[in-house]
Amino acid sequence: MLTNLNTPDSYTSNSHNHHDSNNATQHNTVHINPTVVQGTHLSVIQVHTQQGQNPGTRTTRDSSTTRSNNRDPYLVRQPASLTGVRCYTDASTFSDLPSNLSRNAGIGIFIVNNQVHPVQTIYIKAAMKGTSSVLMAEAAALALAATVTKHLDLHQASFLSDNQQLVNFLNNPNRDDPPDWRIKYYTQTFINLSNVATHRIHRIKRDQNCTANSLARQSFTQLHSSTVFTCTCSYAAHVQCSLREALLSVTLHSVTLLTASCC
Ligand SMILES: [Zn+2]
Repeated sequence: MLTNLNTPDSYTSNSHNHHDSNNATQHNTVHINPTVVQGTHLSVIQVHTQQGQNPGTRTTRDSSTTRSNNRDPYLVRQPASLTGVRCYTDASTFSDLPSNLSRNAGIGIFIVNNQVHPVQTIYIKAAMKGTSSVLMAEAAALALAATVTKHLDLHQASFLSDNQQLVNFLNNPNRDDPPDWRIKYYTQTFINLSNVATHRIHRIKRDQNCTANSLARQSFTQLHSSTVFTCTCSYAAHVQCSLREALLSVTLHSVTLLTASCC
């Protein structure tokens, strides 16, 4: 299931090559209106370019700096350079309609736990019911990531999302008034669980988020098949892997875990 996941992490952790992002999945952005509210169109692209996208040759113009300027202070250009656990999140659902009809969404979470040796990577797919917007699905992905991180007892986590609107809101000192009140449950869940001095939330560009993106898209296509949660581990060192037990106690409204793997 995960054979196509060329992750920026797997490259950048081995060599800090600034052309690593060339391996990222190329998304068709030709038809996307750049004036669409930032973040809300991201998962739309995922849905409409589901499979068969070849690795692109897009270059990252400004990957030589880790952080952006003041206009986008939460953007991290090289997430693999962050210290501590990295928790990539993404969601995939249908585009927002004027009616805001409730719909399903797929959620993908990719965790790189570099606090253990060898480094542990965790891939999680989840299904969400009844989302009213792309923003809500993205918020649920972050809330699930924070919940999972807590249950796995991971500290110093950097939560990574390519949704600028959410990242800006969650970094705001005043977080009582989310951009859409319907996402409040998820943003508040994230805030409550990540309200630790050592946790951070950053924005990353979409081509740095291709693993979580792929997981979210796969989840979205699996939504209609009745799935029992499965958890696999391929670490020889994990004689008794604790992932499954930890995830069984994870609960989040309208969100169901589909699969998790530790490898
Ligand atoms: Zn394991």
